Amino acid sequence: MSDLTNRLVDEYFATGTLSGLPDRHFIDGVWLASASGDRMETFDPGLGRAFHSVVAGGQAEADAAVDAARRALKGPWGKTTPTSRGVLLMRVADLIRRNMDRLAVVESLDVGKPLQEAEGDIAGAIRCFDYYAGAADKIEGKSLPLGPDYVGITVNEPVGVTAHVVPWNYPFSTLARSLAPALAAGCTAVVKPAEQTPLTALMLADILQQAGIPDGVVNVVLGTGAGIGAPLVANPDVRHITFTGSVDTGIEVMRSAARNVASVVLELGGKSPAIVMADANLERAADDIAGAIFENAGQICSASARLVVERKVHDETVALLVSRAERLGMGHGLRRPNLGPVNSRQHLDRIGVHVEGGRSRGLTIATGSGATVDPVSNAGWFFQPTIFDDVPAADPIVQQEIFGPVLAVQVAEDAAHAVELANATQFGLVAGIYTKSLTLAHRMARDIDAGQVFINEYFAGGIMAPFGGVKKSGIGREKGLDAVRNYCKVKTITARIED
Ligand code: NAD
Repeated sequence: MSDLTNRLVDEYFATGTLSGLPDRHFIDGVWLASASGDRMETFDPGLGRAFHSVVAGGQAEADAAVDAARRALKGPWGKTTPTSRGVLLMRVADLIRRNMDRLAVVESLDVGKPLQEAEGDIAGAIRCFDYYAGAADKIEGKSLPLGPDYVGITVNEPVGVTAHVVPWNYPFSTLARSLAPALAAGCTAVVKPAEQTPLTALMLADILQQAGIPDGVVNVVLGTGAGIGAPLVANPDVRHITFTGSVDTGIEVMRSAARNVASVVLELGGKSPAIVMADANLERAADDIAGAIFENAGQICSASARLVVERKVHDETVALLVSRAERLGMGHGLRRPNLGPVNSRQHLDRIGVHVEGGRSRGLTIATGSGATVDPVSNAGWFFQPTIFDDVPAADPIVQQEIFGPVLAVQVAEDAAHAVELANATQFGLVAGIYTKSLTLAHRMARDIDAGQVFINEYFAGGIMAPFGGVKKSGIGREKGLDAVRNYCKVKTITARIED
């Protein structure tokens, strides 16, 4: 741990808060209170108590932010060259790097996640700004083969004002992955972080200003989904919305966008399968799958929430996973545990309802028994890592996104059955396949209906790998060069060469 990280952690445990935390909207380069005077608390899930409060806005702030973003398109930002936008984004990456310790501590505190995971998230966001800094001056159009007497080109223009609605599980990295390509393309933005985790988006706004991004280009507004998210996405000057969150809210956002014929990218829920075939390296698969369901206490859209395992290796694989689950040390995120709390009391209760439902239907629980507390403080919103064994395909434990440290095991007779089970939910975000046969792996990858398939390493990839769902997991892709297209409108220019 760096000295600064140590000092911040000590300050937090000594005072119950951190000095200098932001608490206002960032609109047109200015930190503003809400017209209504409303505020909302932010909670430390590791202790289950509030550590800060921020303003809560509504229609007035949403409109002011969109207006600032609309005007900024016509200001100096609209005249920046792609190369200078790239330089600015590189500067942003560098400033995030310099502020990494504080960003990671605040992210860990606000989400509840272990500090080492928060540090990984901030490192991922740095990589994201660096990647799109490099992309800014490579957003090329096409020349069109119209024949000898014509010239035809396409130009990628910025789509305009964009809205970025962010959930609470990966607040900083989720925002980075949509904001960086939007800025690379020359758009302006209004960001709406989740009400549970508003802080690092505000810290990013400060960094963007320090980097020299002009006022109004990026605005951050705070409040609830109904209070400020809904008026933001309904504003007719918003031309594109990138929404990451639940299926139900995504549907509402899409409905709202439709009224203005604005484009959307929806990154929604999942119930992703990890398939383990009999010839797989079981130790390796178990490490991966335990990581991908217990990291961030299972609050990951692309978590490996289902293990689909070939019957021949079922007992051994489940035993490996149970032993990994039972070895995880729980604790406050700032103490770098293996497993942190879940984000809110309400969410803890929701997970409990799912698990109790499974128990009452007579499902076998291989390990885990419900909600618990941090053994050091006797407080916090923790849920024991839980594994349901041999769950029927139609059971809600298989079908519904729990968004907690709960794994559902399904038994497959062979590869075809494994694919059938993998596909049999309303979701299609990602899938993992573990086998030594690459032929079999590629056949299964072809037949699995998901936005991304990992072979022999769950989460293999990086910022260059497009990410997004099929079915109710969403539409559109983020990451990679594909993401830049979300923020461009194509203009076609055709000309006849006059004699
Ligand atoms: P949520 O839908 O409740 O909230 C997400 C965001 O939308 C928050 O900022 C919220 O304030 C805002 N919001 C709520 N109502 C709104 C409205 N009517 N109009 C505009 N904005 C509104 O989701 P959540 O519970 O915060 O997040 C968990 C969900 O997000 C899970 O389903 C998870 O799978 C999903 N998720 C998906 C991805 C992905 O990349 N596919 C990543 C992270 C989380």
